[in-house]
Amino acid sequence: MPTCRLLCLLLPALLAALELPTDAQLDPALTIAGRGELRALAGLPRLGIEARVEMADGQVRRLAGHQRLRWTNPGPGARSDLCLRLIPNGEPFKGASLAIANLSVDGQPASSRMESAGTALLVDLPRPLAPGAAVEVACAFTCTPSAQGHHGLCRSSTAGATFYYWHPEPAGMVDGRWITAIPQDYGDASATTSFHAQVQLDLPPGLAAVTGGSAVSAPLPDGGSRLTIAAPFTRNLCLVLDPGWQHQDRTVDGTTVRAWVGPDDAAPGTRMVEAAAGSLQRFAAAFGSYPWSELDVVVAPLGDGAGGMESTGLVVIDGSLVRMARYVPPGDGPDTFPAFMLESVTAHEVAHEWWYSLVGSDAVSEPWVDESLTNWTGSWYLEQRGTPTPYGLVLMEFMISGRPLGAMDRPLAAFRTQEEYGGIVYARGALAWQALRREVGDQAFLGLLAEWQRRHRHQVADGTALRTLIGERLGPAVAERFATRWIDGTGLTMAEVSKAAAGGPLRP
Ligand SMILES: [Zn+2]
Repeated sequence: MPTCRLLCLLLPALLAALELPTDAQLDPALTIAGRGELRALAGLPRLGIEARVEMADGQVRRLAGHQRLRWTNPGPGARSDLCLRLIPNGEPFKGASLAIANLSVDGQPASSRMESAGTALLVDLPRPLAPGAAVEVACAFTCTPSAQGHHGLCRSSTAGATFYYWHPEPAGMVDGRWITAIPQDYGDASATTSFHAQVQLDLPPGLAAVTGGSAVSAPLPDGGSRLTIAAPFTRNLCLVLDPGWQHQDRTVDGTTVRAWVGPDDAAPGTRMVEAAAGSLQRFAAAFGSYPWSELDVVVAPLGDGAGGMESTGLVVIDGSLVRMARYVPPGDGPDTFPAFMLESVTAHEVAHEWWYSLVGSDAVSEPWVDESLTNWTGSWYLEQRGTPTPYGLVLMEFMISGRPLGAMDRPLAAFRTQEEYGGIVYARGALAWQALRREVGDQAFLGLLAEWQRRHRHQVADGTALRTLIGERLGPAVAERFATRWIDGTGLTMAEVSKAAAGGPLRP
């Protein structure tokens, strides 16, 4: 077919024409301080994407486009391949897929091999890439969501769609090894490097989008709209598509915090925006600045027992939590159960902006690194807000899950059930950090977390680095005891877990 031939010949030229984001294009998505960081971190991967949302039978059918990635080898060694993650191909996504075509490296057709059950694509580089040298990898892609997705991610229905992991993302790396862990039925699948993206996204008529980063919308001749999205320092760029929401805004230290809910949910929307703004302010002051100019909190169906989901600059809250909080009077504190759930999940997801987005980690192989810390941080926000027993409720979660006392440091696949995973990593994990805080006092404990953030900001860190830092900051005896009992679960007793949740003064 001549047309096809012509298209195939033209494709490399079209891909090369895709713009990579410049600092000036990324600036609107950053605070003033964030723009300074951008100038200092020029070597992070840069990604240009053009894509369009396609409809069929009244719902989103797929998201198709092409991307151009410029990747600079951070070293220390030379590299002979580059890893892109195709996470929606994982079995937990229940039939969703991410297909690629026309793969090229520096404008030439490239060979590749698939690993990790179709979720990791290793692209061969024509020659070893020296530390500090850059390569460009381009491809076309098509992301097809399924009815449920995984925890509501990569799903589509007549009520809207949520796209997460929707384009080939540059994999994270620890100690020179690509992170290629296979997504599991429960837990997150995130393990990317931090990258800068600029996306041109065409939406059909009648569909609105809330996105990570900062988006500017312009009308298209067909009645649809074209979004130009700037997304610096991103781990995953999430797109939530819906016929329409209402939003409520707050401003915190140069960042606009925006909650997006349906027309019946103004009261829970107020609670969400205030919990997000309050937790953002507190976490930034304690752990390190939030560099982005926006934080969106948006309601969408997640299901599978997930209350919320984090992504860079955007968190999703499951619709069931929002509906449950409709009848709690707006001025009431977080002491009633629906209000507590909505605020604690919102604060938890906002805490992930530090423990997942700023400090990246391998959520499949070492989920305790971000989730235990995130669950403590969300509970700490509620404590600071005056909730009488936030850790008591975490203890209750631990008891309900069957009081599992085994090791926290293991991959998702090594937990027998979702309840065991939740009980050990989320509930006991939060209480582990609370026990450490009670032992060493607020100053030393918060100093530890701030240093964890500072040392690994915009990088990927592993559990060994976290254990090492605890030893450096709090001394070998404290670190050894914490690691043995709380991380490895050796000799830990129910009495110790209960004691961690109790009130009473901390060591000064
Ligand atoms: Zn989490």
